[in-house]
Amino acid sequence: MPASDHHPEIIYEGIPASPGIAIAPVHVIARGFSAPEVYQIDEAAVSGEQNRFQEAVELTKRQLVELQSRLEDLSGENESGIFEAHAMMLEDKAVVDRVRKAIASRQQNAEYAFYAVMQNFLEAMRRIPDPYLRERTADIEDVAQRVLRNFSPDSDARHQGPDDRHILVAYDLAPSDTASMNRRHVLGFATEQGSVNSHTAILARAFGVPAVVGLECAVIDVMALTPAILDGYTGKLILHPSPETLERYRRLDDAKARVRSSLDAKRGAATETVDGRQITVSANIEIVEELPLVKRSGAKGIGLYRTEFLLLNSEEMPDEAAQTDIYAKVAREMAPHPVIIRTLDAGGDKLPVEPLTEPEPNPFLGWRGIRVSLARPAMFREQIRAVLRASAQGKVAVMFPMISGLSEVWRCKEMVRRCMDELDKEGVPFDKDLPVGVMIEVPAAALCADLLAPEVDFFSIGTNDLIQYTVAADRVNPHVAELYRPTHPAVIRLIKRTIDAATDNGIWTGICGEMAGDIRLTPLLIGLGVEELSVGPQQVPLVGQAIRSLSYAQCAAMSDEALRHSRSQGVLDLSMELARKHYGELLD
Ligand code: PEP
Ligand code: MG
Repeated sequence: MPASDHHPEIIYEGIPASPGIAIAPVHVIARGFSAPEVYQIDEAAVSGEQNRFQEAVELTKRQLVELQSRLEDLSGENESGIFEAHAMMLEDKAVVDRVRKAIASRQQNAEYAFYAVMQNFLEAMRRIPDPYLRERTADIEDVAQRVLRNFSPDSDARHQGPDDRHILVAYDLAPSDTASMNRRHVLGFATEQGSVNSHTAILARAFGVPAVVGLECAVIDVMALTPAILDGYTGKLILHPSPETLERYRRLDDAKARVRSSLDAKRGAATETVDGRQITVSANIEIVEELPLVKRSGAKGIGLYRTEFLLLNSEEMPDEAAQTDIYAKVAREMAPHPVIIRTLDAGGDKLPVEPLTEPEPNPFLGWRGIRVSLARPAMFREQIRAVLRASAQGKVAVMFPMISGLSEVWRCKEMVRRCMDELDKEGVPFDKDLPVGVMIEVPAAALCADLLAPEVDFFSIGTNDLIQYTVAADRVNPHVAELYRPTHPAVIRLIKRTIDAATDNGIWTGICGEMAGDIRLTPLLIGLGVEELSVGPQQVPLVGQAIRSLSYAQCAAMSDEALRHSRSQGVLDLSMELARKHYGELLD
């Protein structure tokens, strides 16, 4: 792509959703769910229109089945249920009946009747403040858009895009758009909407396509075919890049490619420091579609399986049998490596497990994590039984989120014991020594780690929450992002205190928050004494290489000094110094 020298460079900031760099002209797709033409029909045409509606629905279902198998081919998975769930939306009798009735009573053409019913439904969904539910609105909009297109299936080429390689810029992309993208032509994408938690962002990461979401510009401002650079590392879309910027990014891309191929050669190699301290590098997953990527990454297990993502595809947690199938599949695929299944961490900024009658004034301080599970023992029991049943098919551990004190741990363990007794009586096999761990992500838990440690087999520090609760700065609020500092002296003291309590009680401590994948901080975390780092699959090789480059003795001396430091920046600088010295080439 030639540099554009007649236009000033324009940089739009967004949220990095999937790492990588793409250099290509942009292809812009307009906003999706728009009103179709409306016209009156006479009574004799009603059943014909109802049939047209039915045919569009049937065609959409067939396409979704095809998409599902395409996704499975891409990810090598058998049961990546996203599009199955989409197809199921079309079987919702309430919607189908309403559209049929609207055609008959208003005597309007089928596509408009369908559009009006779906708009009402989507409006109601959009009024729900929860960000996860809003993501599901995008899924429904996606299916609805597809049905609309299928009233005249030959006329649409919306998502085919040009044959040349390009960066896709869109208001929003649905998961099906992402999965059906021609990945030889679409080098990356940027959307005005979206969050890092959306299915679209998750799939982009799973497929290794650079992506930026929450772009600060309106898509309408971006002209098709504008030369551009997409920076999925820092979340930028650069239009009309200057020759210098282009050169800089080409060099960066080459350097990243060299690093990637040198790391590829070491995938799966032992992750121990030069002076022989073993640190396990495992991966975090949200959905089973990420498993192939995890296996390719060389991760030595799954350190955090966020099971609340099961709620993305269904209104409620799947039943015990369905959960058992899913967990057992993950356990089998990862064997002989361990899989730590975290029980439902609903609430807060995540999908609630049931609609709340009134919005909570402070959701992060409210009904989330283990509080929900303990208040819904029937649901909790099903999940624990499923985890136990899966433990017969691989190496499984269970972990509880949002623990704030000892009595919660006792109640969780009591549930595990009760489920073990039941399964024993039923003659169902499970691992009788199933390791039980807790997340340390509430400051109270870190401060009482000495009380919790004798009760459990391991700690996993959830720094995403631990930081927000320690410095009282909401992890998703950009207005206080400046205060949200992983190296704040209070945070590192809590980490140290947790690790010391674990060591004193002969158990191990890992970290599964985003901090674990930040290789600027690997020296600090190793020095503080963590034994496991659980990170996004893309980060696994990088973190592994950082560990292999460091000396534990040096890291420990540095972190002793860091613990005496009074400022976050000072702590970061100390860690960065070692990182730069030993693996500067891996840092941006
Ligand atoms: C954390 O809080 O660090 C964590 C890993 O859990 P989540 O991000 O799912 O809240
Ligand atoms: Mg958390």
